[in-house]
Amino acid sequence: MSLSFFVALLIICFLAMTIASLSSHDDSVIDQQTHLNKIEKIDSLLPQTQCGDCGFNGCLPYAEALAKNETEINRCLPGGNETIKELAKLLNKEVLSLYKDAKDSNLIAFIDEATCIGCVKCITACPVDAIIGAPKQMHSIINQYCTGCELCIAPCPVDCISMVAAR
Ligand code: SF4
Ligand code: SF4
Ligand code: SF4
Repeated sequence: MSLSFFVALLIICFLAMTIASLSSHDDSVIDQQTHLNKIEKIDSLLPQTQCGDCGFNGCLPYAEALAKNETEINRCLPGGNETIKELAKLLNKEVLSLYKDAKDSNLIAFIDEATCIGCVKCITACPVDAIIGAPKQMHSIINQYCTGCELCIAPCPVDCISMVAAR
């Protein structure tokens, strides 16, 4: 084998390795972008209340865990069944019933209407539109929509919301 042939062979091998390495880098960039797009799509379906009820430190970490298939689609109490259905569709998974961890699955919010001052703060806090009312008028819970997430309780300035057993 002549020296020039050997050098040419070395160059060809080097070029082949460089191309293979660039191609695998491109693939990993595409994979990473696909993964980020998936997280973004999942996150866009979540209520963004950042309540942590799902067991994660906010909606984005939950979306990241879902994208990695590290958790179930039924952990978001504020999102309720509608969010589960949308996540199931997006991730091509079976629809599950809402997971309620430490919370009593039979509890829903109740407003003591005699004490309510109609400040609307609970309506703003409810991620699933389970509260009806108008400014300066009493507010009520639509029982079948309430997911029991308790997000309406803290904002109430007169403490007239409590959790009660669903009837
Ligand atoms: S429970 Fe739902 S709204 Fe609350 S942080 Fe988790 S994903 Fe966000
Ligand atoms: S607990 Fe309150 S905030 Fe949560 S769904 Fe029921 S009414 Fe809405
Ligand atoms: S936050 Fe409390 S006082 Fe204000 S409207 Fe809701 S229930 Fe009534």
